[in-house]
Amino acid sequence: MKLYHLSSGPLRVNTYFLVGDEGKAVVIDSGENYNAVVRTAERYGLHIDAVLLTHAHFDHAGNVKKLQDGGAKIYVGEKDAEKLLNDDNLASSFGRRFEKCRADVTLKEGDVVEEAGLKIKVLETPGHTDGSLTYLIGNMLFTGDTLFLESVGRTDFPSGSRSQLINSIRKLFALDGDFDVYPGHEEFTTLTHERKYNTFADYD
Ligand SMILES: [Zn+2]
Repeated sequence: MKLYHLSSGPLRVNTYFLVGDEGKAVVIDSGENYNAVVRTAERYGLHIDAVLLTHAHFDHAGNVKKLQDGGAKIYVGEKDAEKLLNDDNLASSFGRRFEKCRADVTLKEGDVVEEAGLKIKVLETPGHTDGSLTYLIGNMLFTGDTLFLESVGRTDFPSGSRSQLINSIRKLFALDGDFDVYPGHEEFTTLTHERKYNTFADYD
């Protein structure tokens, strides 16, 4: 499997392209900038089979309708699916446009997504939103706005919960072994680094 990374949009969202069989790709958080995603796919000769959203906020999910229209299957946490259809994706509060989208598949704890010859495990990590997910493949975790380098996501948006977020961080820290951590914004990190330096798990 190959991994490509794109940082785009005014909020510098991280978009990840996981490449499986024959140039088929699964995109994690397609962001807002449709053209940047399409150009990246073209640059590396990828076909986007599916988009997996860590959550439904507009900066991560703003272009999913266009990608769906282009043939990609859209996956989102079952509790965030409605946010692709209402104002809880925060687009209107940030003055952004958002094309509403009905996801093709909704996900919950323990589901395994099989796309492009890849198997991606779903962990529910609520707190930033109630439907926030972390995706696990091999030794990689895609944590969206749940876990950042020495930080965590905001919990002051609709359906956010600080106590849930702390529990989600603890759940990730309790995973066995080390993982590379690919967050929804900012720099990559590792679970070992976060267990040592991220102080939010101690919060009460
Ligand atoms: Zn968010």
